[in-house]
Amino acid sequence: MVKDPVCGMTIEESKAAATEEYQGATLYFCSDSCHSKFQANPAQYVPVETTKDPG
Ligand SMILES: [Zn+2]
Repeated sequence: MVKDPVCGMTIEESKAAATEEYQGATLYFCSDSCHSKFQANPAQYVPVETTKDPG
């Protein structure tokens, strides 16, 4: 099971409506709508850990 980064819904990889390769990872989306939202602004939906150092 994987999590749709846009809506937060948990889905099965095999049932994902769309997938996207992003920063070396494969992301799964419950619908084309979520996929489109992600493509419009991917940084908004993916937690970026490389630029932060919580110390
Ligand atoms: Zn979704």
